[in-house]
Amino acid sequence: MALELSTNEQPYHRLYINGAWRDGTGGRCFEVVEPATGTPIASVASAGAADVDAAVAAAREAFDAGPWPHTPPHERARILHRIADMVEERAFELAEIESRDGGVPIRKTTYNDIPLGLHMLRVFAELARRSPYEPLPWNDFPTLAWSFVWREPVGVCAQIIPWNYTFCMAVWKLGPALSTGNTVVLKPSSLAPLSAIELVRMIDGSGLLPRGVVNLITGPGAEAGELLVAHPGVDKIAFTGSTEVGRKIMAAAAPHIKKVTLELGGKSPSILLPDADLDKAIDGALFGMFYHAGQVCEAGTRCFVHSSHYDEVVERMVARVRQLRIGDPMELETDIGPLISFGQRERVEGYIALGREEGARLALGGGRPHGARYEQGPFLEPTIFTHVSNRSRLAQEEIFGPVLAVIRYEELGEAVAMANDSRYGLAASVWSRDLQQAIEVARRLRTGTVWVNDHHVLNPYAPFGGFKESGIGREMGVAGLMEYTEPKHIHVDFQQRRSGKLWWDALLPPEGEE
Ligand code: NAD
Repeated sequence: MALELSTNEQPYHRLYINGAWRDGTGGRCFEVVEPATGTPIASVASAGAADVDAAVAAAREAFDAGPWPHTPPHERARILHRIADMVEERAFELAEIESRDGGVPIRKTTYNDIPLGLHMLRVFAELARRSPYEPLPWNDFPTLAWSFVWREPVGVCAQIIPWNYTFCMAVWKLGPALSTGNTVVLKPSSLAPLSAIELVRMIDGSGLLPRGVVNLITGPGAEAGELLVAHPGVDKIAFTGSTEVGRKIMAAAAPHIKKVTLELGGKSPSILLPDADLDKAIDGALFGMFYHAGQVCEAGTRCFVHSSHYDEVVERMVARVRQLRIGDPMELETDIGPLISFGQRERVEGYIALGREEGARLALGGGRPHGARYEQGPFLEPTIFTHVSNRSRLAQEEIFGPVLAVIRYEELGEAVAMANDSRYGLAASVWSRDLQQAIEVARRLRTGTVWVNDHHVLNPYAPFGGFKESGIGREMGVAGLMEYTEPKHIHVDFQQRRSGKLWWDALLPPEGEE
């Protein structure tokens, strides 16, 4: 399907409300810039208060009066599979959009991000068939009753996503919400909204969903996002983004007691146990850290290494990272693309300066790569700090860039304690040849996911989310699906005689009646 063109020949994307594409109120729009080149690649409508009202009203109407919440699960599953078929047909095009828009290396979007999003969509379609009825044991106090739980959709869901995995994030949000019969207003980040817009365009093109079930608004978080989360017509907010904004979302949800799920920041540890297979563990820990230039919530930004091989690991890590190719995300050989924006690079550079001030030793990187090809975009060298204290800000605050802190430990218990000494609790990886020991360590880590001898691998059947300030609730798996449902207890009484009811206590049966 062709993109719409604005007068200046840049693709122009409108808001999608109640089954129609429309301009934002007052015709306002913003530009989306390709991070690698600084070139504007699209302009996008900016939603104001009237647009947010219209989007929520459309989702409200589609939920309260439309067929979608009552559509049988197998039919919802069929529709989601059809949408997945469309994604599959256009997978490479989506990978290109994602790479240009987010500065994500094309190898990653082609072989991971879009296929992963597609796989997840199919799993959500499969999970849509899950019966909404849950049996309960028979209960005979005070009298015999048959009870069951009916899982029904929550209602209108405001879904807000960040820029770092736009396509997967959009699937994580839309998939479970739609498979359980909710209606949605989706708001992607203004920094990289394009693959989410394309997904909504495909949904629209499919003609399979009733009007108003999916709505899309675009615009800055501080305006469109805030208006959306505060809107009284919204029943649930599903947010992925920073812990800082997550706090605001919780506060905005409080007046109407909206349901909230939050997928927030992280400062995830990777722990190399003394018996780890170093060939795998070093590459794995580096993959955990430098994948998408460290702009990943579950990135393994703190690497704990036993003192017996600390120097060797650092030396080998430095040598390995020197081989990574920084460059144009559209080239297949590129390992590390630019950061999302110049502002983000400045923020990360601030942390590199802080690391030096705090006394950590810079083992590699710390600067901008040299050469004409790096001048147009916010490129930054992958950076490794050693001799980092776990209590330093470098090791405690989320940087969201390619900066690794390597931390020494003497005893395993000390490594676990330091790994847990964080306000975050999103994920962790443990590297060891001894699987039993690795699992014991995994159980002691206060994080929502622990990988043993791997990192970043997302399983759509498994719950994903954070302990502590990394979030509330879960996405993916049955647990993620349940976040989009309200459990309703339906009690069917089996006591035929009135005298047998608990009511006798308050309301005695008329004389002669049993
Ligand atoms: P962000 O919090 O700045 O923005 C996320 C989204 O919220 C964007 O769409 C933005 O427009 C919107 N927003 C901003 N302020 C808002 C407000 N006041 N009200 C409503 N919406 C608002 O995050 P980001 O910079 O886009 O993404 C990076 C962050 O996301 C990192 O902290 C990262 O750890 C986190 N993240 C978490 C996960 C996870 O699953 N836990 C996944 C990816 C990213």
